[in-house]
Amino acid sequence: MGASPLANRIRILNAAPPRPSARYVLYWAQMNRRTASNHALAHAVEIANANNLPLLVYEGLTYDYQAANDRLHTFILEGVPETGVELARIGAGYFFYLRANASGLNDVLYRLAAQAHSIVTDDYPAFIACSHNAIVPGRIGIPYIAVDSSCIVPMNSHVKRNYGAYTIRPKIRRELPAYLTPVEMPALGRKWRDERLPADVAGLRTHVTASNIAALVAACDIDHSVKPSVEYKGGAAAARRRLNDFLKDRLRRYARESGQPSKQATSGLSPYLHFGQISSLEVALAVQRHAEEHKLIADEFLEQLVVRRELAFNFARFAGTAVDSLDVLPDWCKRTMAKHAADPRPFLYTPDQFERAATHDALWNATQRELLLRGTIHGYYRMYWGKKIIEWSPTYEDALRTMIRLHDVYALDGRDPNTYTNILWCFGLHDRPWGERAVFGQLRYMSLDGMKRKTDVAAYVKAMATLT
Ligand SMILES: Cc1cc2nc3c(=O)[nH]c(=O)nc-3n(C[C@H](O)[C@H](O)[C@H](O)COP(=O)(O)OP(=O)(O)OC[C@H]3O[C@@H](n4cnc5c(N)ncnc54)[C@H](O)[C@@H]3O)c2cc1C
Repeated sequence: MGASPLANRIRILNAAPPRPSARYVLYWAQMNRRTASNHALAHAVEIANANNLPLLVYEGLTYDYQAANDRLHTFILEGVPETGVELARIGAGYFFYLRANASGLNDVLYRLAAQAHSIVTDDYPAFIACSHNAIVPGRIGIPYIAVDSSCIVPMNSHVKRNYGAYTIRPKIRRELPAYLTPVEMPALGRKWRDERLPADVAGLRTHVTASNIAALVAACDIDHSVKPSVEYKGGAAAARRRLNDFLKDRLRRYARESGQPSKQATSGLSPYLHFGQISSLEVALAVQRHAEEHKLIADEFLEQLVVRRELAFNFARFAGTAVDSLDVLPDWCKRTMAKHAADPRPFLYTPDQFERAATHDALWNATQRELLLRGTIHGYYRMYWGKKIIEWSPTYEDALRTMIRLHDVYALDGRDPNTYTNILWCFGLHDRPWGERAVFGQLRYMSLDGMKRKTDVAAYVKAMATLT
């Protein structure tokens, strides 16, 4: 693709002119809540420099997104103090606003935009960012520029929906060398001074420190029953520690043991990737460098991080608002489900029984316990988790709803393109027809016996039982 490393990442989502007498350029960090390796931030700096303006970064967190709870809020807030330090270091302003309840302002973005030259934000094909990027450009009155810093090979490189890893893999492999390079971050020409903040928002900024996060969360009108993860602490430093541990200890075992949950050979980076606290580009570059230095083969890991993850982004972009629906499945999946819709289910559980990990199956209950306490499930057992929800729900739609809801409420990496793509994978997306059987029809089936043959189920069940 083009010579500029940013050109193919950018979409200008309206035709509004820049504000002539602006005080700053505004970067709205919706999904990529980080300063390092962030193409959108780099592009915002470019615009600021070109117009001799400083840069203000706005990040918000509201009480009223669906299933907002202590776990998700805490993880996001844990990243905020570091972001503040980093932005101060590069000379950008930072405005973090926590809308704790209905009395808090819900138009802070618009108030900040009233003094801005233009807005740069994250191009992201799911969750709130996707609907913001559809609605806000028409209302904001200044250029609204969405930049893809989520994928290594930009989403814009793919002009249509791919039907499987086998179609997107060759394109990604061909284009990857051009994009697998560090983000060039220009120095800011004009440093930020707080006097530039509009008077009507200046006092609204939420000061977040490591020691006040619990109190801030407690004061929010959100679901306090979902506690912070027992495993994951948010923030770029925590993400980088995890990446380094992965390089030191796990990467060499990944190809052999990533399908063995009890061996803990995977990276555990999905929550950080989801909230953009680390970029997949930074991870891929570090993995590539480490593999070269230590003569390791990282292909299996990069297949997941780049090919599978970017296939999910491609799917989400083209599925649009149907991303969480069975309607977007290939015809063979819909046909086979229609044929088996009335098959008797061997066990039936309510959403509440699933949620409480109260099935007859100790392995399934352990996977759900991992979700309840850690906020993720090991990738291999996550497939089993999804397949069994299909098998034990009255209808396919019920199964889909249960999976999405459990992710919305408990998963730190939920509401991601990966969430919807992989949940729908359980219903045949990006897969192929298998042998016909009850309930699943031609959808791939997974059995407890298979899990016992291939993995150490007893070790995992024991480990999850002692998780606190
Ligand atoms: C039913 C079901 C639901 C899932 N829900 C989510 C979800 O909500 N969020 C999420 O990020 N992943 C989801 N996955 C995919 C996968 O299970 C997780 O990405 C993985 O377990 C995260 O652990 P890790 O970071 O240790 O992965 P690693 O094995 O270390 O992989 C590194 C990264 O590669 C990407 N990756 C790994 N596996 C896949 C995959 N199958 N598809 C796309 N990208 C992948 C992820 O970004 C991951 O963090 C789901 C899978 C299934 C079967």
